[in-house]
Amino acid sequence: MTTDDTAPRSLLDLTFAELEREFVTAGLPPRHAQSFWRVLHHGLCQDFSAAVDFPPPLRRWVAEQVGEGRRFFVEALTAMTDIASGDGQTRKFLLHLADGQSVETVVMGFKNRHTACLSTQVGCAMGCVFCATGQMGFVRHLRPGEIVAQVRHAQRALRADGDEGLRNLVLMGMGEPLHNYDAVMTALETISDRRGLNLGPSRITISTVGVVPGILRLAAEQRPYRLAVSLHGATEQERSALVPASQRWPLAELMAACRTYFTKTGRRIFFEWTLIAGTNDSPAQAKRLAGLLIGLDAHVNLIPLNPTGGFTGIATPSTPVRAFQKTLQLAGIPSTVRQRRGIDVAAGCGQLRSTRLRAERLPSVTV
Ligand code: SF4
Repeated sequence: MTTDDTAPRSLLDLTFAELEREFVTAGLPPRHAQSFWRVLHHGLCQDFSAAVDFPPPLRRWVAEQVGEGRRFFVEALTAMTDIASGDGQTRKFLLHLADGQSVETVVMGFKNRHTACLSTQVGCAMGCVFCATGQMGFVRHLRPGEIVAQVRHAQRALRADGDEGLRNLVLMGMGEPLHNYDAVMTALETISDRRGLNLGPSRITISTVGVVPGILRLAAEQRPYRLAVSLHGATEQERSALVPASQRWPLAELMAACRTYFTKTGRRIFFEWTLIAGTNDSPAQAKRLAGLLIGLDAHVNLIPLNPTGGFTGIATPSTPVRAFQKTLQLAGIPSTVRQRRGIDVAAGCGQLRSTRLRAERLPSVTV
């Protein structure tokens, strides 16, 4: 792949170190990078023409380098759709990207305790059968700036409502984060930077369907984020029926990678289990799941299925959910049943975009 060095670059694609290098090259003192970064990321600034507090050399750099037809621009995502659930606890945005694609960002929670669920790709190559994003196929990776811009959009929306902003982030929206590893790590470096958006690494969860090389890389690089692994099946056959990626990274290989991750980082791993009635919700399957997790610091999140148009399965009712959880508990595995939020706003990842694509007949590409 070739990159065009003359093409305008999103300032949100730059880490602090890259911005600092830009400033040094331009002959500006490195401390100006701090001021600029703070206004850009902490202040969520979109238009620098009003940044009158900048010292003259920095104002000149901004005037020469940032804006339409110049070297840098500030990414802004506009909401094509912005809907709130009836209970007011979920707000879902379908955000428009510069090339006409769109991604979903969801904000969930109560006052001052909000979590944003971010997308990392347009579509997804992993093809999980119950997932609306998997059903639409892979279109492209997001750039770091497009991931950072989702956080800015969510923060702005919360601040406009008088809220302090986000507390937690989960990378569980459209796309497989570890399939877009470098862009995701660059974005998270910016998002967790204390001088800017300042969302601490322990408040950021990367959710993977089981991309083994990515898990091993997280461990080798000692990345400080929380890891969630979607299992959904505790035998190879049951899992690959729901998660085709299991054929590429078989269950045994995935669990070995989780053990390596735990040995190297000492960190708890969260395991996601979407409960589908009559498919993966029996006490016997709970026992097999518990067997897989022996020796790990594991926590299981049980998530009754969010319905999607392209999958006929239905959510496990509450009585078998409790029985499944009880079986895990007896085996010493802690678990939480996650509330299904925002079904009335199609909060399962990819649902809003699929609906819009169907309505507009926009092309979706599978590679
Ligand atoms: S569940 Fe996640 S990994 Fe699986 S297809 Fe959907 S977006 Fe991709």
